Amino acid sequence: MKTQVKALVVGGGAIGTSIAYHLARAGWSDVMLIERDELTSGSTWHAAGLLPLFNMSYATTHIHQYSVEFYKTLEEETGLNPGFFIVGNLRMAQTQARMDEYMLYAATAETCGVPYEWMSPDAIKERWPLVRTEDLQGAIYHPTDGYINPADLTMAMAKGARQRGVSIERKWQADGFEWKGDHWDVTLTKMIERGGNLVPGEEQVVVSAEHVVTASGNHAQRTARMLGIKMPAIPVEHQFIVTEPDPALVAYRKAGGAEHPVLRDADAKWYVREERGGWILGPYERNAPARFEYGVPDSFRADLFPLDLERIEEEYMSMIHRIPSSEEVGLKDDFNGPICYTPDGNPLVGPAPGLRNMWLAEGFSFGITAAGGTGHYLAQLMVGGEAEIDMASLDPKRFSQSWMTTEFAARKNEEAYDHVYILHHPDEERPAARPLRTAPAYDRQKALGAQFGWVNGWERPNYYGPLDAPESFDHDARSFRRGGWWQYAVEEAKAIREGVGLIDATAFTKHVVKGPGATAFLDWFTCNKLPRVGRINLTYALTDHGTTRTEYTIVRIKEHEYYCVSSGGWTEYDGDYLRKAAADKAGEFGYIEIQDVTTQWGVFAIAGPKTRDVLKEVIRDADPDTALSNKRFPWLSARPIELGMCPVNAIRVAYTGELGWELHHPIEMQTYLWDLLLAAGEKHGLKLVGARAQNWLRQEKSYRAFGNELGRDATPLEADLPRFVDLDKEFHGKAAMEATGIRSKCVTLLIDGPEDADPWGREALYLPDAPLRGDGGTRVGRLTSGGYSVAFGKSIGMGYVKPDQAKVGQKLMVRMQDKLWPAEVVEDSPYDPTNANIRVDG
Ligand SMILES: Cc1cc2nc3c(=O)[nH]c(=O)nc-3n(C[C@H](O)[C@H](O)[C@H](O)COP(=O)(O)OP(=O)(O)OC[C@H]3O[C@@H](n4cnc5c(N)ncnc54)[C@H](O)[C@@H]3O)c2cc1C
Repeated sequence: MKTQVKALVVGGGAIGTSIAYHLARAGWSDVMLIERDELTSGSTWHAAGLLPLFNMSYATTHIHQYSVEFYKTLEEETGLNPGFFIVGNLRMAQTQARMDEYMLYAATAETCGVPYEWMSPDAIKERWPLVRTEDLQGAIYHPTDGYINPADLTMAMAKGARQRGVSIERKWQADGFEWKGDHWDVTLTKMIERGGNLVPGEEQVVVSAEHVVTASGNHAQRTARMLGIKMPAIPVEHQFIVTEPDPALVAYRKAGGAEHPVLRDADAKWYVREERGGWILGPYERNAPARFEYGVPDSFRADLFPLDLERIEEEYMSMIHRIPSSEEVGLKDDFNGPICYTPDGNPLVGPAPGLRNMWLAEGFSFGITAAGGTGHYLAQLMVGGEAEIDMASLDPKRFSQSWMTTEFAARKNEEAYDHVYILHHPDEERPAARPLRTAPAYDRQKALGAQFGWVNGWERPNYYGPLDAPESFDHDARSFRRGGWWQYAVEEAKAIREGVGLIDATAFTKHVVKGPGATAFLDWFTCNKLPRVGRINLTYALTDHGTTRTEYTIVRIKEHEYYCVSSGGWTEYDGDYLRKAAADKAGEFGYIEIQDVTTQWGVFAIAGPKTRDVLKEVIRDADPDTALSNKRFPWLSARPIELGMCPVNAIRVAYTGELGWELHHPIEMQTYLWDLLLAAGEKHGLKLVGARAQNWLRQEKSYRAFGNELGRDATPLEADLPRFVDLDKEFHGKAAMEATGIRSKCVTLLIDGPEDADPWGREALYLPDAPLRGDGGTRVGRLTSGGYSVAFGKSIGMGYVKPDQAKVGQKLMVRMQDKLWPAEVVEDSPYDPTNANIRVDG
C-alpha cells in the first residue's frame, strides 16, 4: 500500500468511488481510496438505483444531470455495463397544486437543460393501460430518466478509476486524522472478520495525504468525531418492497407494451418501477426513525433492518389503487436499509469547517443519482479551486458548528425523509426542531402575529399575520402562486414606502476584525475601498476565481477595528473563509483577531419616510432634533447613539431603499429596545415588517441578495456592481475576476405576469421570439429573485442574461406556470434611482 498520496478518499460507496475517479480524471495522478469492508458494502448495495432528475435546487439538478450523462459513457470507457435503463420517469399529479409544483420545477429543469414533457391522464392511460388515471390532473414526464444497478455502477467507476491510476485498498479503516501543517497523517487499521463481525485487527499504517475526502455514508458520525467537527448526516430507515410477477404486467409486456417509466405518485408518497415482471414499491412514509445517531455498530455490515409493513400500509394500498392489477400479487422481497439524510435533504459537499484540505462528501439520500455529478464538481473544487456551479447550497458549513446537536440532526433528518414527497412550496417552512434559536423579542413578535422563517436555526419573522391566527395559518397560506400571506406582505411593503416599518434582522452574521494587521488584511480580502473611521461600505470577498464568496457591510469602528456584517444564513460559511484567510495572511500583514459576535448583537432595521419621527422620540442627545440629520448622521455612516437606556450602534443604511437605520444593540437589551420603539412608533403608525416584504422592496432598488444574485458562479462585475469594486487596488481574486470578463450580466426586470402569481426567482428567461412551449425559442438567462413590487403594481425580478440582452428596454419573456409573460429590463434601482428618499434630510 502507498503511504504517501496526493488525495486519500475514505469510503468505497458510489460517492467515494466517483470522487476518486473524477480526481484522477481531473489530473491528480496519486489518488488512493480506502474502504473498511468491500466496495458497495454501505447503503450503495441496497439502493433501488433510481436516477430522478426532478429537483428543486439549481446546483443539485446540475449534479444529477451530469450523473445521467456520465453513466451513459461508463461502459465504453471501462467495458463494464452499469445496468443503466433509460425508461423515463412519470411524475403524476392528483391535484392542481401538484401541477403548479411541477410547473415551477420545470422552470429549474429548463434553466439546467433537463428535458421534460407534459402528459394528460388520457395520454398516460393510452401508453400505460395498467395505470389508473381518472383521479389524475396530469403528469410531468422526463424521457431521459431511468434506473441503474448501483453495485455495477460503483464497480464500473472503480475500474475507470483504477485505469486512471487510482489505487483502491479494501478492508482498511481510517481510524485517526492528524493535520501536520501541509498534509494529513491518516491512521489506517486492517479490518478482520471475527464471528461474522468486521473488527479492527492489529495491523496499522499511517498514510500521509495532502488532501482527504470523507465519503463514509452511514458512518458519518464516527468520521465527524474523529475530525472533531459536527456533521448533521444521520441515516433514517428506508424500505422498498418487490412483488411477485404481476400476470397483467407480464401479458402487457409480452404483447409488446413498452416498459413502464419509473412511476411517481407524489401525492401518495411513493415510486414504483418494474422488476422482472413484478413491481418495486418505494414509499416515503411517515415515522421512519433515524438510526445510528452515535455510530454504526460493528455487527452491522451489509445488513438490513426488519421490514415494517404496517408503517407503509397506506402507501402500499395506494399503489394497489394506482395499479389495480398489483392487488393480487404477493410480496417477493423486501429491503429496509439506512439512508443518510441531512436536515434540509441536501448532502454535505465541500471543505470541512475549521480544517484544511479536508473535504466532506456526506449525507447523501440520492447518492446513486448524485454520485457522478458530486465527483465531477467536487474534483473541480479540489483541483481547480472552484466548481463551475455555485456549490454553496451543498456546503457543510450551512449548518453552524456552534449550535448544531445530534438530537437536532436526527429529528430534522426524519422530517426531511417524511418531506420528500410533500408539496415543495417555495414559501415552505418546516416545523421540526423549532423554535430553537430565538432572539429575546421572539415571544413579543409571536404575540403580535409574526409568522417565522428558519434562518440557520434562528426564528426570523417572514410576515405578520392576523393576531388570532390558528396554528396552521402559515401552512395553509402557502402556495405556488400568491399565498395567503401575500396581502400581509403588500401592506408591510407599503408601510415602509409610505410610513415607517420595523424589521428584525438579528440573524445577520457579524464578525469583528481587529488588530495591527486588520486594515491591510481586509484591504486585500475585499474588493471595495475600505471605509474611513465612522463610515461604512458595501464590499465583497472573492473566491480564487474572482467570483463572489461573501458580501459584507463593513463598518470601520477604529483605525484597525472593523465590524463586518454578512448574510444571516451563512455564519459558519463566512466565518470559516474569513478565519482561514486571516490565518494565512497574518505573517504578511501582522496579527489579525477575528471574533464572531453574531449572538451578542441584536439588529432592528427601521425604515421609511417617518423613521426620524419615531427615533427622535427616544434618542437621548444634547440636541435630539439634529442628532439624525444629514449633517450629524450622513447616509452610509455609523455611530453609537442612545435610545432611551439602550446603547445602540446605529448604521445609516436600509436594505429597503428608504430613509433608515440599522440599530445594532446588546442582545440582552433587545426586549427593552423593542418595547421602547413600539411605544414611540405607535402614534407614527410604525408597522412590523417581515423578510418577505423586505425581499420585494430590495428588488425595487436592485439590491443584490447573497445566495440569489451573488454567489460563486458570478463575479461582482457580472453582478453589475462595478461601483463596489476598486480596480485601482490589488485584492484577492482581482486578476481572475478581470480575466473572466462578463459571461452574463445581472439585470432587474418588471414583469407583466399572471393576475395571481409572481415569479420566485427560478424561472427561465427567453427572447420574445420564443414560441409558447419554448423548446425552440432562445433561452437567454434565468431569474435569481422574484416577487411583487408595490411601487410599480406588478411582478418584479432580478436575474442573469447574456450581456447583449442586458440593455435597459430589452424585451424578454419569463416562463411562469408554463406560459410566457412579457418582461422588460429596467434601469438599476427602478424605484428612486437617485436615492433621494434614502438621503432625505430632517
Ligand atoms: C432502501 C434504499 C433505497 C435507495 N434507493 C436509492 C435510489 O433509488 N436512488 C438513489 O440515488 N439513492 C438511493 N438510495 C440512497 C443511496 O443508497 C445512498 O445515497 C448512497 O448509496 C450513498 O452512497 P455513499 O457512497 O455516500 O455511502 P455508502 O454506500 O454507505 O458508502 C460509504 C462507505 O464508506 C465506508 N466507510 C465508512 N467509514 C469508513 C472508514 N472510516 N474507513 C474506510 N471506509 C469507511 C463504508 O464501509 C461504506 O462502504 C437508497 C437507499 C436505501 C437505504
